[in-house]
Amino acid sequence: MSHITQAKRVVIKVGTSTLAYENGRLNLRRMEELCKVLCGLQNEGREVVLVSSGAVGVGMAKLGLHKHPEEIEQRQAVAAVGQCELMFMYDKFFGEYNHTVGQVLLTRDVVQNQVTRKNAENTFLTLLHLGIIPVVNENDSVATDELAGKNFGDNDTLSATVAVLSQADLLVILTDIDGLYDGNPRTNPQAKRIPYVYGITDKIKALAGGAGSDLGTGGMATKVSAAEIANRAGIPCVVLSGANPRDLYDLFDGTVLGTTFVPAQEKN
Ligand code: GLU
Repeated sequence: MSHITQAKRVVIKVGTSTLAYENGRLNLRRMEELCKVLCGLQNEGREVVLVSSGAVGVGMAKLGLHKHPEEIEQRQAVAAVGQCELMFMYDKFFGEYNHTVGQVLLTRDVVQNQVTRKNAENTFLTLLHLGIIPVVNENDSVATDELAGKNFGDNDTLSATVAVLSQADLLVILTDIDGLYDGNPRTNPQAKRIPYVYGITDKIKALAGGAGSDLGTGGMATKVSAAEIANRAGIPCVVLSGANPRDLYDLFDGTVLGTTFVPAQEKN
């Protein structure tokens, strides 16, 4: 439990399904609440890094598109518009509580190359040192499926990479379900939430199954693989519902919420 209550540097990932309605428009009430809570955590002495999806969803809503664009160029253009809107709103909401945000957009090749990886790491450490909240997304306007190896594909994986790069003490993935269950809670009312996972086995991976909602790209499977990346670096990972951002206060106060993936050994 202390790995959560005492975590100083925390990466929090929020997905499109938490931030936006089905029509792609921002859920302002939830977004505002999330920003307020993150400012609260920052004020109590923690350092917050936010990994936020939403560029494509928000861009679609802004451009009045009802269908996910099929052509990659369209998707990239839509993401360029949406990312701008997303940052505008974050700047506004965090600014209301007197906090400054800085945008960091990453692609996989940046973290695969030793020099650019080090640059990204230095940027995170400097932003955090300055008390700035980094807001991170994949650079969707340049990352393409065609250029193999260029994109992370989903922001769960990205958030685990960011946790490692920023030398975080904890990764929290907010999603549309309150953790990992021992069955499918959407179809089986008997399914129970698993509060702690010690070691990500094939059985755990099998429980994570396939994708969840239609808006985001990842389901529980990508969350478990993100937890695996974080755990390998000694970083615990909590997956919990993002429906009520104030739950984060309870989590950091020591309430057992969601599913915590506990690393075999703490980060050094
Ligand atoms: N980077 C994508 C976006 O901002 C989201 C990827 C994901 O849903 O994991 O729209």
